[in-house]
Order: sequence, then C-alpha cells, then structure tokens
Amino acid sequence: MSEALRDQFGRSIEYLRISVTDRCNFRCVYCMPAAGLEWLPKAEILSYEEIAETVRQLAPLGLRRLRITGGEPTIRPNVERLVALLRAVPDIEDIALSTNGARLEALAPTLRAAGLDRVNISADSLRPDRIAAIARRDLGFDPVRAALAAERAGLAPVKLNMVVMRGVNDDEVADFARLTVDHPWHVRFIELMPVGEMRELTFDHVVPSDEILARLGAVGALSPVAGPARGNGPAAYYAFPGASGSVGVITPMTHTYCGSCNRVRLTADGRLRTCLFGDHEVDLRTPLRAGQPLEAHFRRALAEKPREHALLQLRVGGLRALSQVGG
Ligand code: SAM
Ligand code: SF4
Repeated sequence: MSEALRDQFGRSIEYLRISVTDRCNFRCVYCMPAAGLEWLPKAEILSYEEIAETVRQLAPLGLRRLRITGGEPTIRPNVERLVALLRAVPDIEDIALSTNGARLEALAPTLRAAGLDRVNISADSLRPDRIAAIARRDLGFDPVRAALAAERAGLAPVKLNMVVMRGVNDDEVADFARLTVDHPWHVRFIELMPVGEMRELTFDHVVPSDEILARLGAVGALSPVAGPARGNGPAAYYAFPGASGSVGVITPMTHTYCGSCNRVRLTADGRLRTCLFGDHEVDLRTPLRAGQPLEAHFRRALAEKPREHALLQLRVGGLRALSQVGG
C-alpha cells in the first residue's frame, strides 16, 4: 500500500468534503448573491460514479471520513445513490451530509437506508419570517422538525449550525442553546465570514465567539465537554448542567485551525481544493475521465496545501461564495 497522504507540514489528510452541486434552493444572505450566479454546465459536474471512484482511490491512502455538501446536496437528484456508492467503499468510516434542511423531513429515511451516518443542519433562526428573510426563500423549513426527523431516521448525532449575525439573528443564540438541554443535539455557532460580494454583511455583523459564549453564560453555567463522539471539525464544545446535547463555537474569524487541518475539498466540477481560502486546486476530472490513476495528482495537491489561510483574502474578496466550494 502507498504511504498515507500527508501534506508538506506533516498533516495527515483523512477527511474529504465533497460538493455535489453548486446550486441551491436557498439564497442565504451570507452565502449567495440574490441573483446573477452562473451555474456550472452539467457536463462539467462529476457523476456519482466519478465521485465514488475518486474516493475509492483515496481510501487506501488514508481517507476515512466524508461529508457530502454543496450548494445544497439534497437538490441533486437521487443523492442517496451517491451515499450508497460511497458506503460500499472499504475503510470509509463516517459519511455525513450538510444540508439547509428544507428537504430533510422527506429524505431522511431514504438517506439513512442508503447508508448515511449523520447530518449537519444549517439553521439560522427559529422564527419562520426570519428564516425566510435570511434564506431569501420561504420553503417552510422548520429546524426543530427537521432535527427531529433526522433523529427519528437514526441520523445521529444531529448537529445544528447557526451563522451568527449581529443585528440579524444574534438575539436567538440563547434560544438555540436551550434546545440542547432537552435534545441530544449539538448546536454550533459559526462566526460569520463576510466573504466576497455579499456587501449587505460586513465585519460589523461578525459576533466573536467569546461574546457568544459570554451570552450563553447568562442561560446557565457552561462546562467544556469532549463534544460529539463523531466529528471531524474545528468546534470547541460546552454543555449546560444535565443537558442532553452540547453547544459549540466555530471560529474562522477569531481563531484559525490551520495547524490541525485534516481536510481537503472536492468541488462539484472535480477540482481538489486543499484550503477553503485561496486558489490552491488541482484538476482531478481530466485524469479521472482519461482513466488515469489519481494518486500523483493527490500528492501534488497536498504538496501545495498552504500552511494557513490568509484572512486578508476575505477582506479583499478572494472567495466569491462558500456555496462554490462546499463550506
Ligand atoms: N447548503 C448546505 C448548508 O447550508 O448546510 C451545505 C453548503 S453550505 C455552503 C455549508 C455551510 O457553510 C453552512 O453551514 C453555511 O451556514 C456555511 N456558510 C456559508 N457561507 C458562510 C459565511 N459567509 N460565513 C459563515 N458560514 C457560512
Ligand atoms: Fe444554499 Fe447552504 Fe449557501 Fe444557504 S448556506 S445559500 S443553503 S449553499
């Protein structure tokens, strides 16, 4: 077997985020412009078989955990077929999916039956009017109903991710945190990244995690906990006394995790991106469609994985939207 995948700084790469589409049924204010995005032509998007083949070639090099993301993965037709193909790859231990939740009540049992382990649900408000305003769409998404449906289907542990925006939804931080008292859910508060062309949101809308945690302290005493058993991510977790779940913070703006970064991203059009920010990407689609082995291309991508990302790139708009690289 070949040597495990490590980047030039010795970080081993076990976790792949797979974007299956750049499209979405929402237009979240922090993620996509209201209009004017150009979608990738269908021919440029990897088929489910091509994605599974990529994973089959990465697994012997140490890949163990996958996340299916987008855009919105649940709007790509029959995404459960991809789940089943990935489930069949030896050595893959964990398959998760990130979703805006709008279609989750309908799809959770099918996804679970295909072999999905768990879901992260993006939920920025518990108020229907506000959900529709932030998503710029009213699809009747109810975060609590979606989380209950996921739990019923056995997609656990359920994580709820809230992007906190000052003056937009930050008054609901405590309400989200209280959900973890009675439900075994993990609510993660994400610092807003005011990226690219979303000029409605600026650095003034960022609520630093220290402030979020201080506000949660008013709900109850928080103790640090290990966090959910299955997770790949950069969150720090805390729990209220006797709570079934936990709260966590993801802090791209105030702390970076680059030193322990264990992930790479596969874009919907088959490029391997080694860092969320910056332009380091290697085309896998061309060798894949030519029937060539991918290992040399993986290794080239990792050799270029940067030590850390420059937040400065956010300020100059180096990234247009997270929907294009899978968040
Ligand atoms: N559509 C799915 C969803 O919303 O969960 C998956 C893709 S979405 C790009 C992945 C994650 O990125 C979501 O949790 C979303 O809230 C987060 N995200 C997108 N833009 C962001 C931004 N500007 N700042 C912080 N988080 C962002
Ligand atoms: Fe769509 Fe997810 Fe981006 Fe919202 S955050 S616009 S749901 S891809």
